Amino acid sequence: MATIIDGKFVAQTIRDHLKDQVALLIQKYHVTPHLAVILIGDNPASQSYVRGKEIACQKAGIQSTVVRKPSTITEAELIEVIDSLNQDPSVHGILLQLPIPKHLDSDKIISLIRSDKDVDGFTMENVAKLTNGKGDLIPCTPLGVMRLLEYYQIPIAGKHAVVIGRSQIVGKPLASLLLKENATVTICHSKTVDLKGLCRQADLLFAAIGVPNMITSEYVKPGAVVIDVGISKVDGVITGDVHFDSVQALASYLTPVPGGVGPMTIACLLENTLRCYQKLVGV
Ligand code: NAD
Repeated sequence: MATIIDGKFVAQTIRDHLKDQVALLIQKYHVTPHLAVILIGDNPASQSYVRGKEIACQKAGIQSTVVRKPSTITEAELIEVIDSLNQDPSVHGILLQLPIPKHLDSDKIISLIRSDKDVDGFTMENVAKLTNGKGDLIPCTPLGVMRLLEYYQIPIAGKHAVVIGRSQIVGKPLASLLLKENATVTICHSKTVDLKGLCRQADLLFAAIGVPNMITSEYVKPGAVVIDVGISKVDGVITGDVHFDSVQALASYLTPVPGGVGPMTIACLLENTLRCYQKLVGV
């Protein structure tokens, strides 16, 4: 029976530690870490994510500002918002809540965020650093996954890690991080042939697909570590990519959804905000 990885607990441990660090830094340098979130339009899911980020910042003693703009915002107006946050010395971290309306080019807009305020680790400079094994601002979800492996002291070096999903925000950065830790990494995606066979070779299996309950026991080698990044809603219930009940009996470690990777993402956003602050304040 798998050990169930308690992401809620690990995330809270990180958040408690960050809160103490923030308090000490404010006391010493009289500057409060400050995260600015740009929220465009009125997508309910984005609004709720941003609210979660605001609350998390507040609890950690980090100032947060939400810059709300209508979905009709032009590219020039959005660039102005980013320019002014880039130049504002009181702002240490900038996050553009995705998705943004289709008339805006998200890659182009993200590339305009100062890379030393890029708490999501999405700018080309930060992506390149990560790919070269020198990343310091790492996308929050894959960073959260690595923190879980670290907390549970799960060995990575020499293991075969299979990552299902090749997105810029999860699959690719996660593969880079695993490679840096000397795993042998296979990246699978929607065009992969014999996904099941490849997954069954994995010592460490990561599902970042967005297809609820797709990964059943047939995809899992006995004793494998299975990390479920997926979040979907099925009849109003938050569901992962891994069929928890069937995989539980086979895996050595397994993350639940909710309560696995999800809470780590926010904890790592706070961590990245503090990292930006430390670099910008020079401490
Ligand atoms: P995405 O849609 O950008 O990428 C999905 C990937 O899965 C693609 O690379 C695609 O090739 C692959 N894929 C799709 N169908 C497949 C199939 N049948 N077989 C093999 N591969 C397949 O999604 P994303 O942004 O990377 O997110 C993936 C999942 O993770 C989603 O459920 C998302 O909600 C979740 N997510 C969770 C967190 C968190 O905090 N836990 C953060 C980000 C994303």
